[in-house]
Amino acid sequence: MTEKNTQAPAATSVPAPAAFASRPLRVAIIGAGPAGVYAADILTKAERGFELAIDLFDRYPAPYGLIRYGVAPDHPRIKGIVKALHKVLDRGDIRFFGNVDYGTDLGIAELREHYDAVIFATGAINDADLNIPGIELEGSHGGADFVSWYDGHPDVPRSWPLEATQVAVLGNGNVALDVARVLSKHAEDLLVTEIPQNVYRGLAASPVTDVHVFGRRGPAQVKFTPLELRELSHSRDVDIVLYPEDFEFDAASDAAIKTNNQVKTMVGTLANWLIEQEEREERGQAGAATASGRPRRRLHLHFLHSPVEVTGTDGKVSGIRFERQELDGTGNARGTGELVDYPVQAVYRAIGYFGSALPEIEYDGRTGTVPNLEGKVLDAAGTQVPGLYATGWIKRGPVGLIGHTKSDAAETIAHLLADLNQLPVAANPAPEAVPALLEAKGVAYTSWDGWLELDAHEQGLGAAAAPAPTPAGPVVRERIKVVDREEMVAVSRTAEQTAGART
Ligand code: NAP
Repeated sequence: MTEKNTQAPAATSVPAPAAFASRPLRVAIIGAGPAGVYAADILTKAERGFELAIDLFDRYPAPYGLIRYGVAPDHPRIKGIVKALHKVLDRGDIRFFGNVDYGTDLGIAELREHYDAVIFATGAINDADLNIPGIELEGSHGGADFVSWYDGHPDVPRSWPLEATQVAVLGNGNVALDVARVLSKHAEDLLVTEIPQNVYRGLAASPVTDVHVFGRRGPAQVKFTPLELRELSHSRDVDIVLYPEDFEFDAASDAAIKTNNQVKTMVGTLANWLIEQEEREERGQAGAATASGRPRRRLHLHFLHSPVEVTGTDGKVSGIRFERQELDGTGNARGTGELVDYPVQAVYRAIGYFGSALPEIEYDGRTGTVPNLEGKVLDAAGTQVPGLYATGWIKRGPVGLIGHTKSDAAETIAHLLADLNQLPVAANPAPEAVPALLEAKGVAYTSWDGWLELDAHEQGLGAAAAPAPTPAGPVVRERIKVVDREEMVAVSRTAEQTAGART
């Protein structure tokens, strides 16, 4: 349904329509992840001849969306994007309302009553389905669910079943690498990160020895990126294991290696690892004891394996069956008919995220997105719904890095500004009406001041923890994330009551 056939108008020097000459244009943004914050920032900075009031809502008590609940804890560089988002929200010209769920705490009619435009930036946090027999067995998990667990998402259970010694991770994207890396790393090596206590305890008790990552195409068709691939070799006491028979390249692979630096780098990295592995095997050094005395773990990278069935015993995962693939010359893979089985006790599918439907808005179940034309929300007939917009993964699907969300937001905001004269004008634009409505409904919303309080609290928990002994020396923890929603709200609401919501 999402079409791409018009040119986004430029978002500069927008004159004030009559409705916004005497009061600010009021915009609600649903979702305080990168997509929502970038949209707010771009809108705020647009050259315009009218005042603006933006309220940013999130269903979680804390802002930052997928950076807080999707980026792996051992990725400080990406987590660092938070600093830029923090600067935007800390300016004081955007109000933050956390712990407010669109569809439960606020509906579309209420938003329309108080805002002239609504931008949905709700992202995609669920796992895409994989329809193969056995996928429902105990021990078969969504990669995104596991990410939510290790990132301390308030809505997932505190414990995670980590009883498997051999694990399969399906997919060759960055999420598959995140999942495989976190599963295979020794837990104390994650103590330098912000992982919550329950996650540390869960990972520390894991008996895992082998994590197998399976891609359905070849080494030149992987979706992950060079930095993330190379990072696998930095996990201490974890060996990468490759299989020479998986190194198949067709004409399309050769062309990609020649023309695409990223592909060339990754194939080069994998080929070097394979050579080093063969040299170690020749020297008889494979599997040598670790210097730290910790048990050695293995992270296997397999290619040309398409999953056909998760096999089970007594309702629990006991293995996984693949059909071996071969490349067809175009970079795509086709089945060879050869079936191979691996004994594993857990399976994680990391084959992509998928967006969820939003109440009272059209939803495209094929793509997991809100139907839209360059960010203008469409109804079932494909007609623009006045005043409603979308940006980020709920607009274009779960692909691309965080930076791509900026250009996406610019496109959406350009349309919003071009539509100013057609926006349905809010009947009740008073800024205090929304907090009053939330209070009246008993919604324990959190504010930006509340987040600052929680932020400081989490850093304080890290500082107060005794340095943990690790093979690399004692580790001081910079932050320990609070997981429990009620605790997050309680800490944030303390600030709320003392400082009041920032307006
Ligand atoms: P992704 O990059 O789209 O990768 C999905 C993988 O799943 C692909 O290898 C795909 O193979 C495979 N797949 C899809 N359907 C499958 C099936 N039925 N059977 C077997 N394999 C299947 O998705 P993602 O890993 O969820 O990442 C989403 C986005 O977030 C990406 O842009 C990613 O770079 C970004 N991200 C970045 C980081 C980071 O650290 N920089 C971390 C996490 C996520 P085919 O290619 O054959 O379809």
